[in-house]
Amino acid sequence: MKIAIIGGGASGLFLASLLEGVTLFEGKDRVGKKLLATGNGRCNLSNQQMSLDHFHGNKKLVQEVFSRASQEEVFSHFHLMGLDTLRDDRNRIYPRTLQASTVLNVLRRHAEEKNDIRTGIEVEKVQAKNKGFTLTLEGGEREDYDLVVLATGGKTMPKSGSRGQGYALAKALGHHLRPIFPALVQVKTKDPFLKHLQGVKVEGVLELWINGKKKDQKTGEILITNYGLSGPPVLDLSRQAVEAYLKKEKVDFRFSLLNGMEDLKEAFTYVQERTYQFYPNRLEEFLEGLVHKKFIHVVLKNLNLSPDVRLEDLAYQDLEKFWKILAQYKMEMTGFRKEDQAQITCGGVSGEEIDGRGESLLHPGLFFIGELVDVDGDCGGYNLQWAWSSALSCAKAIKEKEDQKGF
Ligand SMILES: Cc1cc2nc3c(=O)[nH]c(=O)nc-3n(C[C@H](O)[C@H](O)[C@H](O)COP(=O)(O)OP(=O)(O)OC[C@H]3O[C@@H](n4cnc5c(N)ncnc54)[C@H](O)[C@@H]3O)c2cc1C
Repeated sequence: MKIAIIGGGASGLFLASLLEGVTLFEGKDRVGKKLLATGNGRCNLSNQQMSLDHFHGNKKLVQEVFSRASQEEVFSHFHLMGLDTLRDDRNRIYPRTLQASTVLNVLRRHAEEKNDIRTGIEVEKVQAKNKGFTLTLEGGEREDYDLVVLATGGKTMPKSGSRGQGYALAKALGHHLRPIFPALVQVKTKDPFLKHLQGVKVEGVLELWINGKKKDQKTGEILITNYGLSGPPVLDLSRQAVEAYLKKEKVDFRFSLLNGMEDLKEAFTYVQERTYQFYPNRLEEFLEGLVHKKFIHVVLKNLNLSPDVRLEDLAYQDLEKFWKILAQYKMEMTGFRKEDQAQITCGGVSGEEIDGRGESLLHPGLFFIGELVDVDGDCGGYNLQWAWSSALSCAKAIKEKEDQKGF
């Protein structure tokens, strides 16, 4: 049985490490370029807290795939290949070396040992025949295969080779796509003080508001940049934010200018009470011991107040505005960074048209795995876990087919 895997990223390499005698095509000169960039070069392989809540898109498909290819099974294969792992205090799983290159080397070695890995060859077309498939390679050469696996990834980090080519291949084969958009991405916001605040970090809770209603919140380090907001809580909320923004909904982010606040309502009460404690103080003095010095200018300018005004001189309405700015600073979303900055592409090949083995319901023998499919996960190792599990489920299906054929 002739089997082709298209794409030598996380899912394609993991699949190849589980099979023998397959041909893997990778458009780039080397396999696994994106893997090297994962987890800031440390590769956050997975997460100990595995539940459906961390996945988005077609959850039914996620459930089917995980019931065929569990996290335990994935990691027993990694351990068999010699990769040792560790878990950090946030339940994220990494290679024990804390080097993404280790993961790539282990996968590449096992994939290469048993298979034909052909790099620098882009597959330009996949045609379904009565039986099997014809691949058209870059340069026009054609090759026939019995089974084909599309593991071409999404559209993020295009320089790694994933430029969304798989979406076109899938569409040409009659598959439908769920709308594609980037996530785990920094957001652009409107604020007259961004340049001034660039580089300032706040440790605390970040709230996401859509059409004036609070939708979600995440805690962590919020980084203000010259274009808007970055940092782990922003990335975590970006999926919902980008989706709403693309639907032309009004999206804004709220956070307290005070570090260490876990609830914005409590932050309001805190600054309110503190005001009465320091009632005779000048505004500047009051703010000095409370917030990053760059915020002092922002608060005073926002309210058009002089630093020398005393708290006790403010009318109650102005005090309320003052507390609100300190406790619930608001930035309206005006966009998001492009694919080259995002970590994941949401949407993709519809899960309605494939089964839990990754096999196409339109063309038996055609499989889809990894980010190309309409499944994405939260930050913290969930996207790679999807890549590994979808590849393992597909490997089992391919082995079943080989057994049926008596190979
Ligand atoms: C900066 C960054 C950091 C990340 N960190 C993490 C992390 O720590 N943990 C986590 O869980 N997730 C992380 N992710 C997400 C994770 O890397 C992806 O979800 C995962 O790599 C997807 O695997 P894949 O095999 O589907 O696609 P990819 O890894 O993108 O691989 C697809 C491959 O297919 C090749 N290809 C595409 N089309 C063709 C074609 N027509 N012919 C031949 N070859 C083709 C591409 O060149 C590419 O090598 C990160 C992503 C980025 C961008």
